[in-house]
Amino acid sequence: MRLTCHCGAIELEVELSEGLATARRCDCCYCRRRGAIMATVPLDKLRVVRAADRLSLYQWGSCTAKHYFCPTCGIYTHHRRRSDPNEYGVNVGALESVNPRDLGEVPWSDGVNHPSDRP
Ligand SMILES: [Zn+2]
Repeated sequence: MRLTCHCGAIELEVELSEGLATARRCDCCYCRRRGAIMATVPLDKLRVVRAADRLSLYQWGSCTAKHYFCPTCGIYTHHRRRSDPNEYGVNVGALESVNPRDLGEVPWSDGVNHPSDRP
């Protein structure tokens, strides 16, 4: 599937591990601000087709997770997970053939209680 940021500078080709069955929201202190619905992609099933050198990286806390976004339009494209570094999470809203509204209610991950966030 094709995944693009809003301005079109960044383009990814991804293969979702179980289609949209893995779609989740997350209530950790970062994801609750970002507000995106995310789906799982195995590490070897994500390819940055355009502008890999332009992707911006944001890291915080334990710096295990790597959050990528377009520096021009600000849209989050994907991140390497903290909970499982063998997976990427990708922005379902940036998948070209998907309207996130069609997903209905999306389950929440318990990000706020992740062990790495505890003091
Ligand atoms: Zn962009």
